[in-house]
Amino acid sequence: MPTTDYRTRFRIAPGTRVRLRDHDPGYKDRHRSKKEAAPEIERYARRLRELQYLLYAEGRRSLLIVLQALDAGGKDGTIRHVLGYMNPQGCRVHAFKVPTPEEAAHDFLWRVHQAAPRIGEAAIFNRSHYEDVLVTRVHGLVSKSECKARYAHINAFERLLADRATVILKFFLHISAEEQLRRFRKRLDDPKRWWKLSEADFEERRYWDAYQEAYEDALSRCSTEHAPWFVIPADHKWFRNLAVSRIVVETLEALDMSFPPPKVDIEALRARWRELAGKERES
Ligand code: AMP
Ligand code: MG
Repeated sequence: MPTTDYRTRFRIAPGTRVRLRDHDPGYKDRHRSKKEAAPEIERYARRLRELQYLLYAEGRRSLLIVLQALDAGGKDGTIRHVLGYMNPQGCRVHAFKVPTPEEAAHDFLWRVHQAAPRIGEAAIFNRSHYEDVLVTRVHGLVSKSECKARYAHINAFERLLADRATVILKFFLHISAEEQLRRFRKRLDDPKRWWKLSEADFEERRYWDAYQEAYEDALSRCSTEHAPWFVIPADHKWFRNLAVSRIVVETLEALDMSFPPPKVDIEALRARWRELAGKERES
């Protein structure tokens, strides 16, 4: 059984060329089923909660999680899982939509920078600045050479955040074309999911190959030491959740964070407490 951590296993090593065909979206490691993996999923989720508490308490760095995927790729579900274990205080989600006129009147990183996590905070991006080298490229709104300039801007921008103690983890939730169809079908069959349906999702499917190619370029060009990309097998939702939370846990563990020292004299406060408790008993 390979013992390498998921941080290594699913990471795109900086400088390597990604071929998504070589990544199996249905991969589930040694696990046979969700049920069998449940204790492990629970363990990482709990550890995630402790580590986020520590990140917040320590107040020395921040965490940025970027989620990208094709439609029905599972971004919302991943956020529910990962965030479900975090303290809402100290954590925020930001969803990036089609730029507003105000946003479009600025450079493409302007709105992103404002959403970057504060010190001690964790931020999750549901879509991100990568849309500006993905959807825009697929639809011919930016050329290949403009994309190249944007990759450089993105790498420099992420470097800026990393230099200010932001830990950046970027996840591409990789699903197969068949799984996407199944999920669309499920949405059609379930009135509680109708709100999620958009004609655009079905239309975008026609550009499947163009998206795979755009993703391959973005992942290849922008996986860096300070802001690595991970390709997460996402056909199985439970494995996707396990892999993402495990990578976040492994990364935070490696930071060796510690609670800050008390701002007060604990012994003096203990004495003071005894005094107060004594008075309470006398009265
Ligand atoms: P959803 O995430 O399903 O709510 O959809 C948001 C939509 O906004 C998607 O179709 C994205 O492709 C689109 N979007 C997000 N960011 C950008 C961007 N920078 N340029 C163009 N479209 C974008
Ligand atoms: Mg959508």
